[in-house]
Amino acid sequence: MHPRLLLAPLFAAALPAFAQQTPPQLADAELPSLITIYKELHSHPELSMREEKSSTLMAKELKAVGCEVTERIGKYDKPDAIGYGVVGVLKNGDGPIVLVRTDMDALPVTEETGLPYASKDTATTGDGKQVGVMQACGHDIHMATFIGVARALAKLKDQWHGTILFVAQPAEELGTGARALLKDGLYTRWPKPDYALGFHDHAQLPIGQVGVTEGYTYANVDSVDVTVYGLGGHGAHPHRTKDPIVLSAEIINAWQTIAARENNPVDPIVVTVGSIHGGTKHNIISNEVKMQLTVRSYKSEVRARVLAAIERIAKGCAIAAGLPEDKMPTVHVREDEFTPATYNNPELTRRLVGVWKKSLGEGNAKMVDPTMGGEDFAEFSLPDHSIPAVNVHIGAVAPEKVAESEKPGAPQLPSLHSSKFAPIPEPTIRTGIIAMTTAVLDLMKK
Ligand SMILES: [Zn+2]
Ligand SMILES: [Zn+2]
Repeated sequence: MHPRLLLAPLFAAALPAFAQQTPPQLADAELPSLITIYKELHSHPELSMREEKSSTLMAKELKAVGCEVTERIGKYDKPDAIGYGVVGVLKNGDGPIVLVRTDMDALPVTEETGLPYASKDTATTGDGKQVGVMQACGHDIHMATFIGVARALAKLKDQWHGTILFVAQPAEELGTGARALLKDGLYTRWPKPDYALGFHDHAQLPIGQVGVTEGYTYANVDSVDVTVYGLGGHGAHPHRTKDPIVLSAEIINAWQTIAARENNPVDPIVVTVGSIHGGTKHNIISNEVKMQLTVRSYKSEVRARVLAAIERIAKGCAIAAGLPEDKMPTVHVREDEFTPATYNNPELTRRLVGVWKKSLGEGNAKMVDPTMGGEDFAEFSLPDHSIPAVNVHIGAVAPEKVAESEKPGAPQLPSLHSSKFAPIPEPTIRTGIIAMTTAVLDLMKK
């Protein structure tokens, strides 16, 4: 027998221990192919509820690592809308069930990053407008990271046991995608997870770092439509009218006292009037004014109180202006667009920070402030937060740019949703893969 042939079985036996790679090594090995995927996703973004190609790619990649994959999941309120959710189940014996989530949708933003792989794509919105489309929130970073995590965990099966649910959700930007998956039986057709993990790139956090908040991290988000009625007439004869524009101005100022005077200062809230429209011409006092508000809170009892105060104050101001009963303002809370607050389970958060300090370096896992932004990842932990969940921020910006932006008077860095937001893909995806892989390994270790 040739000596080389004799040696071959010896090498083969030694190989598994030799080939056992760490999450950082696996991330490095996968990065070139993930960057190709990332750039393709970035160049061809898809708006919310239209994630056809992105979801097909997620399904293909999850199948390639050995997941049982189901596509086209999600039931929206709009009966003809297609749910482009994807669930990939990676089974590895008995053990904990962990959900790992990515989102997929892009935004109606015309990209201005100047990157060679910038999106030039456009789309027509539901109301017939032609808009640019951009992955301005970095959901393409999330998709590439998600595939990297699936590939890494499939290769590390000897280190964990249980079932991983890889969930690619549509329509995060509308706040409706996660709910649509649950409505379509996410926790009945598939096993209900013991833990849910999410991640999001961060436009002010340096690459290589993760940031996490214990407890509330994103807010309840309510969209509220208010119509203020008046009695219109000639601009020269205000005494013959009830001017809804002056009344709206009073209402808007009075709403500011909800935060300043009615609310416990330790419970954060925001009442923002993002849109106001009334009137057609200089010299006409109009019949009505329409406003659109975003209202943010953490606790559900605070949310209920703020929404009630918005209506009470609007009506009270209208009474003070002398409007008749049938001209009271109407306040409509869009319940179908509500996004609940995201609550990071404190015990799980502390556990994972410990994991990340080890896997990313002591200084690279930080506690960060909560925000009044919204994230429908909250849905996966259920309204009573009974499924422990954590959503972690992944740094996406050069450290020197972060330092520069923190100097007094320096211009702000482009935020998420900005046409100029350009995360640095390689280190962001790499950190995301290491963070999520080591988190799952810790929760599912043998
Ligand atoms: Zn976003
Ligand atoms: Zn986002």
